[in-house]
Amino acid sequence: MYDLIIIGAGPAGLTAALYALRAGKKVLVLEEKAYGGQIINAQKVKNYPGIIEVSGKDWAMTLFQQVKNFGGETKLEKVVSLKVDGSEKIIMTDMDEEYQTKTVVISTGTRYRKLGLPKEDELVGKGISYCATCDGNFYQDKDVAVVGGGNTALMDAIYLSGIAKKVYLIHRRDEFRGEKIYVDEARRKENVEILLNTVVTGLNGVDKLESIGISGDREIKLDGMFVAVGNQPHNQIFQDVIELDDVGYIKTNDGVHTNINGVYVAGDTRAKDLRQLTTAISDGAIAATMAVQEMDNS
Ligand code: NAP
Repeated sequence: MYDLIIIGAGPAGLTAALYALRAGKKVLVLEEKAYGGQIINAQKVKNYPGIIEVSGKDWAMTLFQQVKNFGGETKLEKVVSLKVDGSEKIIMTDMDEEYQTKTVVISTGTRYRKLGLPKEDELVGKGISYCATCDGNFYQDKDVAVVGGGNTALMDAIYLSGIAKKVYLIHRRDEFRGEKIYVDEARRKENVEILLNTVVTGLNGVDKLESIGISGDREIKLDGMFVAVGNQPHNQIFQDVIELDDVGYIKTNDGVHTNINGVYVAGDTRAKDLRQLTTAISDGAIAATMAVQEMDNS
């Protein structure tokens, strides 16, 4: 039996692991895809207090190494169910493994939101991407678009302007949601054309993306389109056990406690106002500390 099982090895989950390990607990971290979470796709993190600039991947891999140095057990297995049997929690994974634990931290993060256009799924990897850092290099001297108006879209457009010939930055409103510092930088790039009050209405191409339709019945020829329209939770596997809000984020009563004793939530997957690296690691530290206190007091 583990003291704590953490579901999701992003910044929140790895921080929770670090805190629980340092308190001498037996910890297992289960991760579906890749250790580090979405931050590994961030070219540069410039708003982490005390660090002027760091690559998201370097930062996350250092944290992962820290967890390993403290003896953290980590497994790449997808959690398929969580059952609560009194004070014992049972976690099943897609490897047909079953793990028992006293406490759980859910830190499953979020997934990329799609535009929901016809052909969007079939053109993924054939011109459509949700990660500029991962796929940007395929578009040397090509024409690309970035869709979205948040920090991710702005940073993607800035990043791609150094690779692609032309970058259209397409946003549905007349002002950006992202920070002014990035808006100003994107505006300064000569090969970035900003299209405000504009939505993508259609995707054209058979084996690969060739053009997109946009507001005003216009068509733009493109080699690639990067969708950066935010994220969505993916907590369906917990919905019969854990209380979710209308959108699917995990509700808490006072920060990190879910409606089930011994099950905590940390990071972007919990209902909250600000989803940042700093708030994710803060959640992780608090959730693990609460879990440790609960175990020590029982
Ligand atoms: P976000 O801030 O939620 O922005 C999503 C953008 O996509 C918004 O501009 C939104 O438009 C637009 N959008 C949503 N659904 C759309 C649709 N169906 N069609 C067209 N446009 C749509 O997401 P994000 O940029 O990924 O950022 C997520 C979080 O990470 C934020 O808190 C952000 O600050 C943070 N972040 C921080 C940094 C950093 O270095 N500081 C870098 C990246 C991300 P509206 O504006 O009209 O709603």
